[in-house]
Amino acid sequence: MFGLIGHSTNFGDAKRKALELGYDHIADGDLDVWCSAPPQLVEHVTVTSAVGKTIEGAYIDSCFVPEMLSRFKTARRKVLNAMELAQKKGINITALGGFTSIIFENFNLLQHKHVRNTTLQWERFTTGNTHTAWVICRQLEINAPMVGIDLKKARVAVIGATGDIGSAICRWLNNRTEVGELLLVARQQKPLLELQNQLGSGQVMSLEDALPQADAVIWVASMPKTLQIDPNCLQRPCLMIDGGYPKNLDSKFSGDGIHILKGGIVEFFKDIGWNMMQLAEMERPHRQMFACFAEAMILEFEECHTNFSWGRNNITLEKMDFIGEASVRHGFSTLNLKNQIQAAMA
Ligand code: NDP
Repeated sequence: MFGLIGHSTNFGDAKRKALELGYDHIADGDLDVWCSAPPQLVEHVTVTSAVGKTIEGAYIDSCFVPEMLSRFKTARRKVLNAMELAQKKGINITALGGFTSIIFENFNLLQHKHVRNTTLQWERFTTGNTHTAWVICRQLEINAPMVGIDLKKARVAVIGATGDIGSAICRWLNNRTEVGELLLVARQQKPLLELQNQLGSGQVMSLEDALPQADAVIWVASMPKTLQIDPNCLQRPCLMIDGGYPKNLDSKFSGDGIHILKGGIVEFFKDIGWNMMQLAEMERPHRQMFACFAEAMILEFEECHTNFSWGRNNITLEKMDFIGEASVRHGFSTLNLKNQIQAAMA
């Protein structure tokens, strides 16, 4: 059985969804009430892959909302409680979606293996970052030529280059995709220089310097709401892949020749009878999902019950090959500009 741990995009949304699902007692509560609300297993699902393998799954809402991020202990408790529930339900492999994987890593939850009388078994969980990194690389490879960008000559900026997903993307683009030049962007200089050294290529740059030079920009950092960038400074055409969470690049950039693609999203080859992706605001919620969620499904299809993506900067090209090949075989495809436009018009 696979599991997905997720959350609503904001408090207002969470309250509306709770009402729809019949959790009236929580829906009426203020943020303090929500802070003490336990995780909920809201849905079970059965999925059959393109090669005929059938698996069972469950969606657990952690009852976390981004408004709780500043409440360190609450955020930590929400993620640990959801993981405990997944384990108690006997789920073999569960993906940590949205902010839950970031909370797990940044708040160092590895130190919190014991939740009440449960000892968490890390091999039952995955961040899903290997599949996310592979999907974003494929989105670049497929969509850049479609908007007139020749990757062999292109400058590709990776914003968040030193992160778990960003560094894997850099390694892939450096070794598997022929790109003109990599522009490496993050805030801290030391990890950037170490990455540049490991890659043996790439230019370390500030965001302000990289954006006007880049033909393609991969965002794998959560963007601060206050960030202001003049779209007139961008190259035309410019492909922007919005791989961060939340996906808000389209509110910052628009204009002729600027193509914004939601990054790290995949589409299954047929409808899945679930409602859970409506919570994640997918354009086609019966087929589309975050690539990190799909990683748990793929691992279950493959009976690969292990914490496949775990820790920081452990993603290898071989792991990306494995998950990418299995993703295609079981019927997932990457979200591309063409199907993004079709879904928005439908
Ligand atoms: P990490 O914390 O490992 O990496 C974040 C990276 O972003 C670091 O390189 C960090 O470096 C950089 N960064 C953070 N803030 C800024 C900033 N203001 N300007 C420039 N760089 C910045 O995160 P992950 O790799 O695990 O995840 C990256 C993003 O992908 C997250 O937003 C996450 O939510 C999202 N994600 C999306 C998925 C999907 O859509 N399917 C699935 C999983 C994750 P520094 O601190 O030095 O700036």
